Amino acid sequence: MTKKVIYPGTFNPITKGHRDLIERASKLFDHVIVAVAKSTEKSPLFTLSERVKLAKTVCAHLPNVHVKGFNILLANFARSEKIPIILRGLRAVSDFEYEFQLANMNRRLLPEIETIFLTPSEEYAFLSSTLVREIAALNGDISAFVDKPVAQALKEKFSKRRRS
Ligand code: ADP
Repeated sequence: MTKKVIYPGTFNPITKGHRDLIERASKLFDHVIVAVAKSTEKSPLFTLSERVKLAKTVCAHLPNVHVKGFNILLANFARSEKIPIILRGLRAVSDFEYEFQLANMNRRLLPEIETIFLTPSEEYAFLSSTLVREIAALNGDISAFVDKPVAQALKEKFSKRRRS
């Protein structure tokens, strides 16, 4: 039986913390599906297709990792992809409450689903897409936190915004 896991998130944009988790998962599972949520209610800075494209670029070195966009309930997407395991990341205690709620809700929606958690390398334990966007918006150096194509995309996005 091939072992598959789904790693859902907004990835707005994908950071080195996300990549750290994906690399760990790619060693534990035969296939890792990085599932990029449309998350319209969060009004993401990057469109779904931009976020998918950046995630594909960042994961290009991992042959067993596939990136897909989705715009339905995660439990339904996991069911349609026939993947019974959801991966989420835990950085600090502050993540725990929300992740615990989400894991239990997904179990209510789809009882056969299991959620597992991985922690990133400690250098990424404080890193979030939100912080990266805030630093980039103010022209700060984000090279330690995101891969080059992501840094470039953020630069272009904010310079376009400044011009308009
Ligand atoms: P969401 O909107 O679903 O929280 P995110 O893209 O912010 O989407 O995060 C997706 C998952 O990745 C979450 O489980 C989050 O805790 C985890 N994550 C985000 N940043 C990091 C990081 N630096 N290290 C480890 N996990 C992370």
